[in-house]
Amino acid sequence: MSKNWYPILNYEACTVCGACIKKCSHGVFADKGGMMVVVNPVGCVEGCHGCQKLCPAGAISYFGENDPKVTPSGCGCDCK
Ligand code: SF4
Ligand code: SF4
Repeated sequence: MSKNWYPILNYEACTVCGACIKKCSHGVFADKGGMMVVVNPVGCVEGCHGCQKLCPAGAISYFGENDPKVTPSGCGCDCK
C-alpha cells in the first residue's frame, strides 16, 4: 500500500459512473451522496493504473505519476 501514489479525481469530468469502485478491490473510492470521492488513498497500490484505464471520462490522474521512485504495481490486476 502506498502514500506515494493515489488517484486524484477531476470532479468536473466525473460522471459518477461507478467503474472505479467496481474495479478497485482496495476500498479507495466511495460514492458520497452522488459524488465519487477518494476515501482511502493509502489503500491504493503504487504504480497501479487500473481505475484510470477504465474511467470513461478521463477523470483520474495520480499523485506520484512523475515520481521516479514509484515502482510498477504488484497488485495482480491487468492494468500495467
Ligand atoms: S470511473 Fe471515472 S467517471 Fe466513473 S465514477 Fe470513477 S472517476 Fe468518475
Ligand atoms: S490505481 Fe489501482 S489500487 Fe489505486 S484506486 Fe485505482 S484500481 Fe485501486
